[in-house]
Amino acid sequence: MIVVMEPGASEQQISHMVDRVESLGLRAHVIRGTERTVIAAIGDKREYTRESLRSGPGVADVVPILAPYKVASLEVKPHPTQLRIRDLVVGNGTLGVIAGPCSVESEEQILQTARAVQDAGATALRGGAFKPRTSPYSFQGLKEEGLKLLAAARAETGLAVVTEVMAPDEVELVAEYADVLQIGARNMQNYRLLEAVGKVDRAVLLKRGPSATIDELLLAAEYVLNEGNANVILCERGIRTFETHTRFTLPLATVPYLHRKTHLPVIVDPSHGTGDRALVASMAKAAVAAGADGLMVEVHPDPEAAMSDGYQTLNLEEFSTMMEQLVRVAAAVDKKMPPRLP
Ligand code: PEP
Ligand code: MN
Repeated sequence: MIVVMEPGASEQQISHMVDRVESLGLRAHVIRGTERTVIAAIGDKREYTRESLRSGPGVADVVPILAPYKVASLEVKPHPTQLRIRDLVVGNGTLGVIAGPCSVESEEQILQTARAVQDAGATALRGGAFKPRTSPYSFQGLKEEGLKLLAAARAETGLAVVTEVMAPDEVELVAEYADVLQIGARNMQNYRLLEAVGKVDRAVLLKRGPSATIDELLLAAEYVLNEGNANVILCERGIRTFETHTRFTLPLATVPYLHRKTHLPVIVDPSHGTGDRALVASMAKAAVAAGADGLMVEVHPDPEAAMSDGYQTLNLEEFSTMMEQLVRVAAAVDKKMPPRLP
């Protein structure tokens, strides 16, 4: 249920209603909008609870939340969320572009990439240090050494660092270095991991599982939000279908659909979504045209020599060209894009 407070409700009335909600055995989640505050009351929804809350001081109305996800829902927070993590601004009209190699490989590789993607207009650097690989014999990432290299690239460029965390007991370590904790597609339904990242003071980039429905993605986000971490970015990265010409099938209708259901920012990863360098720029432009709040793109100084995902990775020049083209697409759909460096 949502307890909608009157526009001028006092702090005392709000905290009184939070206490009331909790005393009824429900969890209270306060959302402060520009005009009024609402309290999402999550848990059992018996009719007498609704009646009883409706009579509280400063309460305008009590309405049921219909969506299976609650805190992520537009019913609870009707305005788009904008997240600001260092220079990475994502959501509510601003595009955040996260770019970098699939895996952090060396100091030279990550620094060179960081400088180039920043010049081209990216505001965050991606790079996997803990890599979820299909085969246990593939490169697994540089682990903490990789995190240190990412932090060094941030120290030089100021770019926000986005990197994956794979296990609950590694959250603390990764959070020491990262600005944004990436939950990989394979871990979208690792509920203990979702709860663990929900407890730390770092934004979370939640990638859609390749066989997860949109409702399952939103319910996964709900696990993070429920722990008190409101800084969640959703990422469409392609799903498994019968099609084999692309690594995954990238369903861009996810973007406008999600914007009708959730206030959370939605970005698209055209690299994993296509698995083909030749298709990445087109799908990046299409994603922005469809209303995406940002992109996550794999970029490497020498994709051919990359230790993972080289076939879907842009080189520095291709990325820069793509960004030039994106400026025009962004303008056509009234999105702000960070400026390229002179
Ligand atoms: C990645 O971003 O490098 C990655 C492993 O992506 P996904 O989890 O979407 O496969
Ligand atoms: Mn990759």
